[in-house]
Amino acid sequence: MKSHRQIAAKIRKSFLPIIALVMLSAIYGCTTTNSSKIVNEEATPAQKLPKTKVVTTFLPVYLFTKAVTGDVAEVDILVKPGTEIHEYQGTPANVKAIATANVVIKNGLGLEEFLSDTIKNARNSQLVEIDVSKGIEPINKISPIDKTVAGEHDHDHEHTFGNPHIWLDPVLAKQQIINIRDGLIIADPGNKANYETNAASYIQKLDNLNNEFQQTLKKTPNCTFITFHDAFPYLAKRYNLKQVAVVEIPEKQLSPTDVQKIVNTVKKYKTKALFSEPGLDNKLLTSISQDLQLTVRTLDSLETGDTNPEYYFKAMKTNLESLASGCK
Ligand SMILES: [Zn+2]
Repeated sequence: MKSHRQIAAKIRKSFLPIIALVMLSAIYGCTTTNSSKIVNEEATPAQKLPKTKVVTTFLPVYLFTKAVTGDVAEVDILVKPGTEIHEYQGTPANVKAIATANVVIKNGLGLEEFLSDTIKNARNSQLVEIDVSKGIEPINKISPIDKTVAGEHDHDHEHTFGNPHIWLDPVLAKQQIINIRDGLIIADPGNKANYETNAASYIQKLDNLNNEFQQTLKKTPNCTFITFHDAFPYLAKRYNLKQVAVVEIPEKQLSPTDVQKIVNTVKKYKTKALFSEPGLDNKLLTSISQDLQLTVRTLDSLETGDTNPEYYFKAMKTNLESLASGCK
């Protein structure tokens, strides 16, 4: 392909003097049909339309969108990886990005509380909005929540719209890809074929991932586990596991009371596995798990991480290994 282009470039170069001649002769009114054809081809280079500008809210939506668009659209992300989505506040830069975008894509289910005001402030009447949760039946609190800190106000676990963590179930992820694909085809019909091909190949990979999860986790039915973030009820439901309790731990250090609550929760639910999140390094948590003779493993909620669409599969396979060894 590359050498093909190089050859084409060479030919174009060698034509340049001819074109100059042809143009001159055109001015003097003595062109031949053959050479005027060359002039026409060179004079009208394929006009490149500007790429459709797509703004996504946070990492999982970005990964899925990028998988569907490939390089045919410009995809941006409002909540940069490493920034907490659950309590995110919109910024002037977000308003600016939406003001000039063609499409905005969100997770939905109440996750992006900042978004409606940000869109309002952007005053973009042409904006197409895609909600990736369309057609997905939400789960409402199925995981009992044990709070460690009394009186701390409830934020991300008050799910008025249902639990928003739908991207952590590979089967629901397929529906999200379909929603993105169909929305983009409406907004940018010129790239329909690209969106269809890319979506189909990502869906194929999601099918394979789902098979892997099924095959591995059917060996440990009803495995119960505890997390510190109510992010895995869809995944648990899909593969016949139980996310029985969510322990909200303070962002700072655990107090002795917190420790006691975690110990009690683990005992109460006779849990087999304790899952933290990557990057959450809590020495006390490690010592608690030693007391309880449980290993703390990590489950990645993918709310932060790498922006390559393949990262989804990498992180989910690591999650599967964690679950399999935790549930053994
Ligand atoms: Zn979350």
